[in-house]
Amino acid sequence: MKILIVSDSKASVAQLEGILTNAGYPNTTAVPTFQRAMGVLSISEQTKSPVDLILMDIDIKGINGIAATLTIKSNNEFQDIPIIAITCQDDEATLDRAFAAGASDYIVKPVSRIELRARVRSALQLRREMVKRKLRERELERLARKLERLSNLDGLTGIANRRCFDDTLVKEWVRNGREDAELGLLMIDIDHFKGYNDALGHLDGDSCLCAVADAIRTAVHRPGDLVARYGGEEFAIILPKTDYVGAKSVADTIHANLAKICIKHPNSSVSRTVTVSIGVASGIPACETAPDHLLLAADRALYQAKQSGRNRTESVSLPKLGTIRH
Ligand code: GH3
Ligand code: MG
Ligand code: MG
Repeated sequence: MKILIVSDSKASVAQLEGILTNAGYPNTTAVPTFQRAMGVLSISEQTKSPVDLILMDIDIKGINGIAATLTIKSNNEFQDIPIIAITCQDDEATLDRAFAAGASDYIVKPVSRIELRARVRSALQLRREMVKRKLRERELERLARKLERLSNLDGLTGIANRRCFDDTLVKEWVRNGREDAELGLLMIDIDHFKGYNDALGHLDGDSCLCAVADAIRTAVHRPGDLVARYGGEEFAIILPKTDYVGAKSVADTIHANLAKICIKHPNSSVSRTVTVSIGVASGIPACETAPDHLLLAADRALYQAKQSGRNRTESVSLPKLGTIRH
């Protein structure tokens, strides 16, 4: 483990290094000033070979060792490195200030070999435990982020799931309402998907759902847009700050994408390939109402698209306050 000695006394440094090397800690670096100490700490951090312990001579000339301790301990990168203060002033006031600045221990000069070894050993033990705890914390944070991501994703298609859709819709409803911006919503349903499953089986049905999800996902480009699997063979898209024309053009792109990938449908009365029906609704949300207005409107438009023959888009534009105008 790496020990940094900050002292301007060559004799002190030689004595400390001698004791440490004999005690099995040969990896030491000594610097005479606080500036040089900060340089060593930074480089060690960058090269991923961090300093594990600092022996700080608080009687050092030119700088105040206690202020130096405080500065190191206030730095996020270095605050977990234990500091042992070394001093010839063992009065209570000096030691009090050293501890208040962040030193975890002290040794009074002249330094005793046995005392130094014992204190260095326990400081390094503390350091090892801190490093382990930090690693565990980081791993837990990573797992929590992964869990959060997975809990928002649909297991089959990899796009957002219903839970994520519901949360996002409420957030965007409020945000767009506050900004007086139009919010677009698309409800998309695969045509005659039961027939597809009946003819080809559920495994092919699942692959088809993934391909359709891809065709839908690639139709949107803005970072705030959300494509979700709403349930079964239904998908939904939330388009913040998107008016009626913009939302309809996304629907056109989805139909075009599906025509391009041309998935054969052996059991559809509409087309030889897999098609979708889309309901589009858009409007400025009224914050005092719930997003149900928009959902209901998109759902009604989707029903219209099915009724009028499938493989098409029907749309509705909402005036403010949630009342529907066709
Ligand atoms: P329409 O054009 O009116 O929408 O007809 P449809 O057959 O698509 O609609 P219906 O609601 O009758 O059937 C939906 C089918 O979607 C039923 C079910 O077998 C299929 N489905 C729903 N979820 C999944 C899934 O996760 N995997 C597979 N393979 N099929 C699914
Ligand atoms: Mg359906
Ligand atoms: Mg369907």
